[in-house]
Amino acid sequence: MDNTIYYVCKYTPKEIFSGFDQPTERLDPAPTNFECAESCTHPNLCGYGKALIEEVMKRDIRRLLLVDCCDVCRRIYDVLWHQGNMEFLFLLSLPHKNTASSVSLLERELQRLQTELLALTGENFNPDKALHAWKSGIREAEQQTITEPHVRLIGAHGGTLLKEMIEQRMPLPVQDDTCTGRRMLMPAPECWSDTAYASALLNQHRSCMRMQFRIEEPDDTAVGTICHTIKFCDYYGFAYRHMRAQKEETLLKIETDCTPQSSGQLHTRIDAFAETIGAGANQIKKSENIHYIAGVDSGSTSTDAVILDREKKIVSSVILPTGAGAASGAEKALAAALESAGLKREDLDAVVTTGYGRETVGLSDASATEITCHAKGAHYLFSDARTVIDIGGQDSKVIRIDENGNVVNFVMNDKCAAGTGRFLDMMAKTLELTLPEMSELGLQWKNEVTISSMCTVFAESEVVSLVADNTAPEDIIHGLNASVAGKTSSLVKRLGGEPAYIMTGGVAQNQGVVKELSDKLGAQVYVPKEAQLCGAIGAALLAFGER
Ligand code: SF4
Ligand code: SF4
Repeated sequence: MDNTIYYVCKYTPKEIFSGFDQPTERLDPAPTNFECAESCTHPNLCGYGKALIEEVMKRDIRRLLLVDCCDVCRRIYDVLWHQGNMEFLFLLSLPHKNTASSVSLLERELQRLQTELLALTGENFNPDKALHAWKSGIREAEQQTITEPHVRLIGAHGGTLLKEMIEQRMPLPVQDDTCTGRRMLMPAPECWSDTAYASALLNQHRSCMRMQFRIEEPDDTAVGTICHTIKFCDYYGFAYRHMRAQKEETLLKIETDCTPQSSGQLHTRIDAFAETIGAGANQIKKSENIHYIAGVDSGSTSTDAVILDREKKIVSSVILPTGAGAASGAEKALAAALESAGLKREDLDAVVTTGYGRETVGLSDASATEITCHAKGAHYLFSDARTVIDIGGQDSKVIRIDENGNVVNFVMNDKCAAGTGRFLDMMAKTLELTLPEMSELGLQWKNEVTISSMCTVFAESEVVSLVADNTAPEDIIHGLNASVAGKTSSLVKRLGGEPAYIMTGGVAQNQGVVKELSDKLGAQVYVPKEAQLCGAIGAALLAFGER
């Protein structure tokens, strides 16, 4: 029989459990699916809520303390209570303020908890044991405090998996200050006092977003902050906006649904963030006595290669379909670029790769993310550019850059095909057009057509209905272009993008999208003729020591 009492929130009064000799453990859910949770809850429950229910049900956990942090927590409590399997299930009412009456409210809640624990264990509360746990908890938290340069992870329930993934990709230690991370109460008095304990619990180091007061010690050695939010959690979405408005330091937002799969999708963001704060794991050494440098951008649909000479002039470039594998696609593209330049592999001083296949391509001397490379490439192609809009086959990203082509901030949409080249590709197939035909025809529209769905599947059925209604293809294409431009301009606005704008990636070839985007942003979006080569150019430039 497992006697452990599980908990999730850092405001859990663990010391009270120690006073009853009850072992506690923080739940760290990371399920691969939500089979159990979705059988007994509404699908719109936040990712954490589902993950927690899944964990409790799969592990047959019988003792749990929840905090009434939000509606989801109350729903989790209701679901578990209705299941009827719990031996001990306590929903702690946590005040939002730290006034005297809030402390007194919490004190009463803690007394209610003590009464229930007495009933569960048959033991009386031992204040000395609770006081000892309070003091050792503070020592433990002090030991966890990182004083060397580090990255801070803040926001919603982080979890071991997410923290370890970030640590693996970031050559700096990570301080977990998420709401399930470091827990440091105010100092303990000499003797136990319910009031002092309630106050210390509420006023712990670093208030979470739910509190209406802020206790936040300065963290002078943090070089960047990663803010974790959870899918379908409005609370942390708002908290992030608030943080972004206040923070001057570099801030990256990531979102997961607590599954290992969702953490795995964050590699490019984390790597790009590491590069932005100058802590990239794969720092590219400047090549000396340069003759030729190759940059290869291994994308999902095409692989682009460029060769630059010592003056950083493009001596050759190719764009080939990626084909079955990133490695073979990159080999072919590089071989074609070498042939076109009349060079051999040994004439190259370095090959730098980027793109989604950058780590699987064996031919590279170094690699960097698309974010850093597009920033460098865009600056090379248009030095006035301050916002790069890259819409590729599978994802779209917007990057703010400074006057030297360094990344200031970025956002990515790589979770679905909406607003990407794949979306337009599928719509072109539905209309039985090639992409160049679609680009040309879209400029000849006459009547406004609205495609309301950005989901590729639903948009396709809208297009089929419009075709059945004899709507002119050029008007349908214009509707599609407008919806891609609308989605992209939202990304630009979310990032606070400013002119001058440059557009790169395959979709930059679609004149209708570029025109719509320029209209929505109220400024011209510049498309260089080498738009599709931007990432490969940026990769090559990194070997010149450009950062
Ligand atoms: S947001 Fe605050 S109250 Fe809610 S689980 Fe996190 S730490 Fe606890
Ligand atoms: S992630 Fe958001 S909605 Fe979900 S339990 Fe936490 S605070 Fe509530």
